[in-house]
Amino acid sequence: LDQITADLRPEQAARLLHQEPDPDLPGSARFYCLHCARYFVDLSSMTEHFRSKVHKRRLKELREEPYTQEEAERAAGMGSYIPPKKIEVQTQPLEMEESS
Ligand SMILES: [Zn+2]
Repeated sequence: LDQITADLRPEQAARLLHQEPDPDLPGSARFYCLHCARYFVDLSSMTEHFRSKVHKRRLKELREEPYTQEEAERAAGMGSYIPPKKIEVQTQPLEMEESS
């Protein structure tokens, strides 16, 4: 997860999402989930993946990952509990809008 958190920095994310097509990778590396570090063969499999429990659980993990349980408890014991600031983690924008 540390590596993925690093990959989510905007400049790194942009590089991963706009990498050169690579014929050795699924979908020639054009469909990549940053949060799970996975390639997909086409847009529909990637869209499916974004809706999956695996992906949603990963987003949740990434939101919480920078703060350990110990830190949260220590903060809670200090009288004025300040909830840990959550990093913004969202599914990357798709070129094709999902139908609702
Ligand atoms: Zn994913």
